[in-house]
Amino acid sequence: MARQQCLSCNGIYDDVGPDGVRYFHACPRLSAVELRTKHAAGTLTLSVATAARLAAAIAADAAVPGPPGAASHVEDFWGSLTVARLQARDENLVASLVPGAPASIKAAGAGVALLPPAPATPDVVVLP
Ligand SMILES: [Zn+2]
Repeated sequence: MARQQCLSCNGIYDDVGPDGVRYFHACPRLSAVELRTKHAAGTLTLSVATAARLAAAIAADAAVPGPPGAASHVEDFWGSLTVARLQARDENLVASLVPGAPASIKAAGAGVALLPPAPATPDVVVLP
């Protein structure tokens, strides 16, 4: 068992779970927070139609602010997008077309870094 960090999404995981089952990491899509941050930094370009949807959400929030604690139209907009991560890693296996050749992972992404094992944590703690 090896603890690894995905260099594409920074996710940390063990290649084998505590139940002994092999884990095949696949990077998640970009989160709403990541999308909003990249857009603010100018590293995410929206299509004309998607930019229009964002503008409409901004206008809707300005016209009728939602109740405190409720998601805004802009937050709903960012949450509605499905954007794949650049250099996403996907460790799910693909069979080779060559008979007898080993399977390979779908996408290596930016690779992984091996980490030291996670410290053992007890499942149950009994207080005195
Ligand atoms: Zn990843």
